[in-house]
Amino acid sequence: MALDPLRDGHGRSIGDLRVSVTDRCNFRCQYCMPAEGLRWLEREQILTFEEITRLVALLSSMGVHDVRLTGGEPLVRRGFPRLAAMLADLPDVRELSVTTNGFLLERDAEALVRAGIDRFNVSVDSLQRDRFYQLTRRDALPQVLRGLERLASFPEAHPIKINAVAIRGFTEEEVLPFVQLARRTPYEVRFIEFMPLDGDRAWSEESVLTGAEIRALVQAVHPLEPCGREPHATARVYRFADGPGKIGFINPVSEPFCADCNRIRLTAEGRLRTCLFSLHETDLRSPLRAGASDAELERIIRQAVWRKELKHHVGEPGFIQPARTMSAIGG
Ligand code: SF4
Repeated sequence: MALDPLRDGHGRSIGDLRVSVTDRCNFRCQYCMPAEGLRWLEREQILTFEEITRLVALLSSMGVHDVRLTGGEPLVRRGFPRLAAMLADLPDVRELSVTTNGFLLERDAEALVRAGIDRFNVSVDSLQRDRFYQLTRRDALPQVLRGLERLASFPEAHPIKINAVAIRGFTEEEVLPFVQLARRTPYEVRFIEFMPLDGDRAWSEESVLTGAEIRALVQAVHPLEPCGREPHATARVYRFADGPGKIGFINPVSEPFCADCNRIRLTAEGRLRTCLFSLHETDLRSPLRAGASDAELERIIRQAVWRKELKHHVGEPGFIQPARTMSAIGG
């Protein structure tokens, strides 16, 4: 049964839910996690498949029809394709997508496509093996590229988007190899500005290589034509004027897209985050496990979302980096 649409106090309708299904990851990306990893949640602390499905069913009946599955690295959660199938079966879930580092895609691509995942975002920050290793602390590029190829062999899996985090002093050398990839393959490459959500708290504004700077590097070689930004979308997409392919820029630091933000997040342990940079969270696991009805959960969710932040304050005086790191939020 459809419930009233979920809205925040600024009049924005919420339509996109990011669900972190685990805080664990098999990579140690420098812009996200310390080399030694983090203290992982215990099994009983994270939501079960049934609990995730119940919350997604409730939220989707409030108009949150797009669901993205994230982590940590979602494919390390045992039985993940089964969860994907449970969510794909929900009548009010219209789009089901996953963000993955691609390391386990060769193994799981078919199961995920069969489970009903519509869209895939694969995080790849370098196309050079040694530099990939330098950034992720894993010698995994060949495995990731094989996984991408396997995924691309399923027509249902397209569009496949490749997300590269842009860091000054590292990504400049990666721009043209990624441009070539976007021009010769069906993958849509997007560069994402580095955000202050890293475990080492090493982020600084100087370390952000902006979308505009990368666009200038691209245009010096290949002219670009804007395709515009879809409502609520994070990426500004361009097509090459002199050939096939698209490239996108996600610029949360230099060109924030908060005004029409329609996103909320659910952490692996069942906390509702109304913004990527929230300093407050709402616990849904406790009422869920205490036997709360859907109506009670709905009331808690609506109250929390009504207080959703208007925007982030990155780069402003007084900005406070959230205690929770990207790996425990899921992007
Ligand atoms: S920073 Fe917060 S308000 Fe802005 S787009 Fe991201 S989630 Fe939305």
